[in-house]
Formats: sequence, C-alpha cells, structure tokens
Amino acid sequence: MASSRGRHVAIVGAGVIGLSCALEIRRRGFEVTVVEQGTRAGEATWAAAGVVAPHHYGATPGPLYELLRRSHALYPAFVQSLSRRSLDWHENGTMAIARTKAEAEELEARVHWLNHAGYSAQLLTRSTLSELEPLCDGAFESAAFFAGDAHVDPRLLGLALKETVLQEGVQICFGALVERIETMGSAVSGLSLSGADHILPAEAVVLAAGAWSAGLAPGFRLPVRPAKGQMCAVKTGGLRRPVQYPEGVMIPRTGDLMAVGATVEDVGFDLRINPDAISEVRAAAAGVVSVVADAEIVETWLGFRPRTADGFPVVGQSVVDGLVVSTGHDTKGIALAPVTAKLVADLVCDRHVDPLLTPFSPERFS
Ligand SMILES: Cc1cc2nc3c(=O)[nH]c(=O)nc-3n(C[C@H](O)[C@H](O)[C@H](O)COP(=O)(O)OP(=O)(O)OC[C@H]3O[C@@H](n4cnc5c(N)ncnc54)[C@H](O)[C@@H]3O)c2cc1C
Repeated sequence: MASSRGRHVAIVGAGVIGLSCALEIRRRGFEVTVVEQGTRAGEATWAAAGVVAPHHYGATPGPLYELLRRSHALYPAFVQSLSRRSLDWHENGTMAIARTKAEAEELEARVHWLNHAGYSAQLLTRSTLSELEPLCDGAFESAAFFAGDAHVDPRLLGLALKETVLQEGVQICFGALVERIETMGSAVSGLSLSGADHILPAEAVVLAAGAWSAGLAPGFRLPVRPAKGQMCAVKTGGLRRPVQYPEGVMIPRTGDLMAVGATVEDVGFDLRINPDAISEVRAAAAGVVSVVADAEIVETWLGFRPRTADGFPVVGQSVVDGLVVSTGHDTKGIALAPVTAKLVADLVCDRHVDPLLTPFSPERFS
C-alpha cells in the first residue's frame, strides 16, 4: 500500500490486537474502519487473565521472547496513551510456584536464563515468598519472583482501546460479520459484510479475527485453531500480584476478587462451561493459596485463544498485496498487543518489515 495519508484501512476484529493496530494506524494519519461481528471489544481479549510478562507461558530464549520483551518495554507508554485511566494496570511483578522436582528444575532454569538476558528474576525462600505474597501458603518445591512483570484487567483494556480509537476517529462497525476478504488481481480490495449489498472498499486490510481467522484467509493457508480456556472469579481479596503455577494462574481483580484459570482445551468452538473443569481449576489454585478452596465462585467464563501449530503468532504481509495478517497470539495476545500494533502499522503505513517479524511471517505455512 502507498504511504499517502487519508487511505482507507479496514480491520477485521475488535479484540486487543485489532483495536491496538487500529489505534496505531490511525495515529499515523490513515482512515481506519474496524469490523466486529460481536458487540464488545474482543472475545479472547474479554476472557483473558491479563499477565504481561516476557517469559509468559513457556517462552524461551529466542524470537518469541524478543517479541515479548519489546512489547513489555512499550507497555507503560501504551497504557498511558489510552483515554481511560483505570485499567487495573500494575507493574508490581508476578510470582511463580513449582510443586514438583521437574517443575522446580524448569523454574530454576528460567530464572537463570532470564537473569542472563538481563531480566530480573529471583528464587525465593519460604519467608521471602510469605513476605511478598502472604496468601501463598501451599507446599512448594521452588518459588520465584519476576519484579519486572505486570498485569492488567483485559476487559478494562478492551474498553479503553474501544473508547480511545473512537475518540481518535476510527469507525467501528459492531454486529457486522465479515464474510469474505475481497481481492482484485493480486491485491486486496475490501470486505464483504453479511447482509450488506456492497463491498466495504479498502486499500489495506488487517486480518485480526483471533481464533476465527483461518476461514477468512483468501487463497492461502492460515492454520489458526481455537484453544478453549475456562476461568472463574472467586471472592477473595489480599492477593497482591499474579501467581503462576504449572496448571494456571491467579490474578487479583478490584473488588476483592481473584480471577483463576485456565483450562487449555483442543475442543473447537465449544461454548459450554464445564463445572468439573472449573472445579479442577479452583482445586489447582487452592493448592497454592488455600483460601481459594472455600471462596465463593462469583463468575465463570470461557474464551478461545487463537493458536498456531508452532505456538508462534502470525504477523506479517500475506501473499495478497495489502493484506496483513495479525493473529495467532495464543496465550500471549494481551502481552503482545503494543509491539504487534507497531509492527503492523510499520507494514501497512510504510511497507517497512522489521526483521523481528521474520519468524512470524504467514509465509511459513505456504
Ligand atoms: C482464558 C484465557 C486467559 C488468557 N490469559 C492471557 C494472559 O494472561 N496474558 C496474555 O497476554 N494473553 C492471555 N490470553 C490470550 C489473549 O486473550 C489472546 O491472545 C488475545 O486476546 C487475542 O486477541 P485477538 O484480538 O487476536 O482475539 P479476540 O479478542 O478473540 O478478538 C478477535 C475478534 O474478531 C472478531 N471476529 C472474528 N471473526 C469475525 C468476522 N468474520 N467478522 C467480524 N468480526 C470477527 C471476534 O468476534 C473477536 O471479537 C488468554 C486467553 C484466554 C482465553
């Protein structure tokens, strides 16, 4: 796409990825329309826990860590640039608990390589753990503190993004289903919306439809599947920061609540909440923080993470000129939003491909 101002960019999906991209592209002077089939800001986004950490969910040294690290560095300014002030954003670190010898080995190795990479990570004794997080009273083999980690309430983040993009002149069409991404020759030409009698024309399109992205790729392979996650909120105050353990995470929410999750299930778009799965999620958390065992469950929910076979996001120019793919963020989309938005805007607005994107290119599936 040419870099002249005033060109129209259409974005499929109003999750954290679509809206972050919309904001960054709009701020570079382009006309932007976001098309969202639902009525709220995002699906997986609305369901997420909200941990923002460069070593999140198994990231190891390499390109994914580099991407997460870059995003982590951008986060404070990203949050500051949003209109809504209350996002439940906290830069007070996360804890990790290992309960078996094998888990302890993994955790200690992680602390080692993170320190080596210049990121603060510290192993804890029982007394330092209790000092930092008094609610953690379960047995453990090893525990660690990552002082640079942060967390956010993803629902508030989604709302803030929605409000900010609207204030800055982005159009959002809620309740509009994109049936097809249209092409003319080798280039993208716009979007076909369900029930509309004309195409929404666009010189560039960003495909950010989360777990639903695969079916919208015009003529190329985009193997993104849903990974279902079920969570619950329990009525328990006192947790200071997210506590991660191999089965999941506990994360404080305002109002003396704690979000607890999550399952990871390869069951397609199954919309059922399974009480047994929720019990297991809660039992795993109670092994770390015993008060969770008897705390009242005040909400249960689920979401579909957009997952690729190799666990890497898919961000980059597709084989269709002007069509940029931005999906597959799996368990890390909240954490990766700021860097994704910047790199996608570089592509859409300036045709600049950051070398950081090479391992995440959609071309790896062709
Ligand atoms: C339980 C759970 C816990 C998580 N915890 C964390 C965490 O702690 N930290 C972290 O970084 N990440 C976490 N994640 C992952 C994170 O939520 C996702 O990676 C991220 O939200 C993906 O954002 P997205 O915008 O791509 O997808 P979504 O938020 O799903 O947005 C995609 C949007 O596209 C819309 N759409 C789809 N198809 C169409 C169509 N044809 N027409 C119009 N609109 C369409 C959908 O309605 C949806 O709103 C978690 C996810 C889950 C489920």
